[in-house]
Amino acid sequence: MTDGLFLFNSRTRRKERFVPIEAGQARVYTCGPTVYSPQHIGNMRPNVFADLLKRALLMEGLRVTHVTNVTDVGHLTDDSDAGDDKMEVAAQKTGRRAEEIAAEYTGQWLRDRRRLNCLDPEVLCKATEHIEEQIEMIRVLEEKGVTYRIDDGIYFDVSKFPRYTELARLDLDQQQGGQRIADVVGKKQPADFALWKFADPELKRQQEWDSPWGRGFPGWHIECSAMSTKYLGTRFDIHTGGVEHLTVHHTNEIAQSETALGVHPWVSIWMHEDWLVFGGEKIAKSTGNVLLLEELEAMGISPLGFRYFLLQAHYRKQQNVAEQGLRAAETGYRRLVAQAQALATEGNVDESAAQPRRAEFREAVRDDLNAPRALAAATGIVRDESLSPATRRALLTECDAWLGLDLLTAELPQATQETDPRIDGLVAARQAAREAKQWAEADRIRDELAAEQIVIEDTPEGPIWRRNDP
Ligand SMILES: [Zn+2]
Repeated sequence: MTDGLFLFNSRTRRKERFVPIEAGQARVYTCGPTVYSPQHIGNMRPNVFADLLKRALLMEGLRVTHVTNVTDVGHLTDDSDAGDDKMEVAAQKTGRRAEEIAAEYTGQWLRDRRRLNCLDPEVLCKATEHIEEQIEMIRVLEEKGVTYRIDDGIYFDVSKFPRYTELARLDLDQQQGGQRIADVVGKKQPADFALWKFADPELKRQQEWDSPWGRGFPGWHIECSAMSTKYLGTRFDIHTGGVEHLTVHHTNEIAQSETALGVHPWVSIWMHEDWLVFGGEKIAKSTGNVLLLEELEAMGISPLGFRYFLLQAHYRKQQNVAEQGLRAAETGYRRLVAQAQALATEGNVDESAAQPRRAEFREAVRDDLNAPRALAAATGIVRDESLSPATRRALLTECDAWLGLDLLTAELPQATQETDPRIDGLVAARQAAREAKQWAEADRIRDELAAEQIVIEDTPEGPIWRRNDP
């Protein structure tokens, strides 16, 4: 079996064996949501990915400190520091307090995380509750001479940080020709970014604070540098986030932290998950193709059925979401749970027979969190008749500590009735025939549907139908 956990490091572009900075202890930071609107299923993939990472570290016997932030100020509609603060826009649109909006959507996000069996982070920190720490870090950066002041705010001068292009292999010359420099008047280089933005005295913002430079609010990137330092120290092991953060947000976090803290590398391993896409487009509010977890449930896809769906793709690959795939995952999940729970509870666990199967599963997890392979290994265990039911149960309990699918404990939700006017009509016609004791006609309709792999079950509440599992 592989010796240790191997993770793909975006910083070095290769899989590396994970060695924590402090033996026995893993420190992890994840960029969390901006809570100005509900978190949709595309936003939940990063959560499940970070959860799989955390569970893998736990499986290695490490103590884990996982910090996740909530952005409730300063994230602008445009990543280049132009545009409006997303929280303020939501507050203006709805006539509500920004804090109230943040509280509602933070609650929704936490609820959905838990329903997807994501373990709670050890620290959940909010940007608005760490204004002082952010001001302090900006003050240090100013002292080190890497900032400059323009009418819009205090900016980080990326020409003062030679490693700026390293993480994302950026070509700044190419960026120089872009239009971005014009977005904020006075910026020296397009890549320079806001540390502190001044509040426009004409526009009354809900969220603004006093600072050594004037009244305003923090730029988006500084919160992650300030809060990770507070809770994880000046260097830590793993930082996760979406691939979209590579070129701007994470690149800027590194510039701030490595300059202010005088360390390199600030973070040992950077991990980035790819997007969920729908018809080739990223699932995002801007494309309007969003679905919430509760909407999936209304379609008959359970939260853990959705988790099973996410496990079917590797986190570094884009995963296409389509109704058919989600339904197939729900069916696959239900089948796996039913098979696991049908295993007899009595009998002995055969340790030596269990070992190769355990190794196969752990090998998949240790190979950069290969969820599809791990899922296949767990499915193989359920169906392996050469293993006693007790051995299979014991192994599945171990697998589930990583998969998080409640394989042995889930109470299978009743499948919701799919609707299809033509099939509903045929089922109703068969029922009418039965009530009129026209048995031949009733059987004929049943056979016609059976030929399409549609099964009718007669229940005390009347007939229901479902598609036969492929
Ligand atoms: Zn961040």
